[in-house]
Amino acid sequence: MIEAILFDPTKLNQRRSAAASRKELVHFETCPMCSQAVDRRDIYAVMHHLPVGHEPMPVN
Ligand SMILES: [Zn+2]
Repeated sequence: MIEAILFDPTKLNQRRSAAASRKELVHFETCPMCSQAVDRRDIYAVMHHLPVGHEPMPVN
């Protein structure tokens, strides 16, 4: 099982992709007021979620 993962480049890319996704997750948190996921690297998103009683940001 481990050998198959190590020597199959497709599975290796999937593992790297999953690891990259886990690293991305540390930048997100759930807003306690509107329950929307907020990317803490996005200053506009952070500022939007500061006021009490705000609405969730529109999603494209
Ligand atoms: Zn919010």
